[in-house]
Amino acid sequence: MATNALQTALDQFDLVADRLNLDGGLRDVLRSCKRELIVHFPVRMDDGTIRVFTGYRVQHSQARGPAKGGIRYNPAVDLEEVKALAMWMTWKCSVVNIPFGGAKGGVACDPKALSASELERLTRRYTTEISILIGPDSDIPAPDMGTDAQVMSWIMDTYSMHKGYSIPGVVTGKPINIGGTVGRRDATGRGVLFIAREVARIQGYPLKGATVAVQGFGNVGAVSARLLAEEGCRVVAASDSHGGVYNPGGLDIPKLLNHKQESGKVSDFRPGEAVSNGELLELPCDILVPAAMESQITAQNAPRIKTRAIIEGANGPTLPEADPILHERGVLVVPDILANAGGVMVSYFEWVQDTQSFFWEEAEVNRRMETGLVRAFNDVYALSQREEAEMRTAAYMLGVQRVVEAITTRGIYP
Ligand code: GLU
Repeated sequence: MATNALQTALDQFDLVADRLNLDGGLRDVLRSCKRELIVHFPVRMDDGTIRVFTGYRVQHSQARGPAKGGIRYNPAVDLEEVKALAMWMTWKCSVVNIPFGGAKGGVACDPKALSASELERLTRRYTTEISILIGPDSDIPAPDMGTDAQVMSWIMDTYSMHKGYSIPGVVTGKPINIGGTVGRRDATGRGVLFIAREVARIQGYPLKGATVAVQGFGNVGAVSARLLAEEGCRVVAASDSHGGVYNPGGLDIPKLLNHKQESGKVSDFRPGEAVSNGELLELPCDILVPAAMESQITAQNAPRIKTRAIIEGANGPTLPEADPILHERGVLVVPDILANAGGVMVSYFEWVQDTQSFFWEEAEVNRRMETGLVRAFNDVYALSQREEAEMRTAAYMLGVQRVVEAITTRGIYP
């Protein structure tokens, strides 16, 4: 599953490279990752045994600024997946025009099967191993699947201990009391809400009352569901890795959030009926938000998807062969590099605040994110209309073009 991601990322890039008539040499530069680090490191487990874990940090590009991207703890993490995710980060930062390149990291592990102290030791050792790459001016990690603000504070502390003084800007998504920003935790979900408003506007219906199905109930899915419900949407389905729940009358999201907190899953929530993650994608709704894993929407299920719009909260949820099918069927797809960019935008604001040691109010964080995201959405939408292209193609054209311009302006060293 995970290895599909790199093929997806390269296929998406090649499509746009052709369209932009990109020179062969530049194409090769952008198809490769600048640095790929693999580390194997020991962790002492609570029972006294030693286990070796494998971790990665990949920098795809630093042409527009320091490399930026999250760290994923998941059993399926491998080099190919991390490379794809790093490449997507480059286009994402570029399309929303923040001065960062792209990176990603990960450790192949099941964080739910580790105790808090095992997770801390793993994180501190992994941080030390990748400290030859990360830094506030070179490469700035953040949370991703399986990691959270606590993991970020261990990274910040470990890096700072080695330097001998506190360096909050080495990582974003930190707790607020050590240099994190207000608004970061909800940022990706809030970005999905801002995008949903634009989608409803251009498709000509009120967002209030629109039906929504959300796949995934982690930081992106759960926050998107909550904020869309607060906006007046009817969230008819939600799921996590155990499966989903469907109620055409609308799920009570605050109650569902409590239920998930208490029981650890959403599928047995009532009133509602259990559905699989695959079935959820095919439920009738106005807006579908895939906010879980890669490679969920395929050539097989794309013909059966009954939604007006897909807002990609996850990275890489749609395979390239599904895109033309969805387009043909009139489904508007807002691609991941735009739809979930609210997270990294607010990461950028956190890094700016850390750099200046000057902290903003939440209203300012949200307002700046909304302005930037809505502008990017409208630029991409206008380009897609002008070029008669899908939103993904337009977003890539904008994102790739900016990176190409940065490389061309800087020149090839030496
Ligand atoms: N992991 C998130 C993403 O995929 C956030 C990255 C960041 O804030 O650097 O966009």
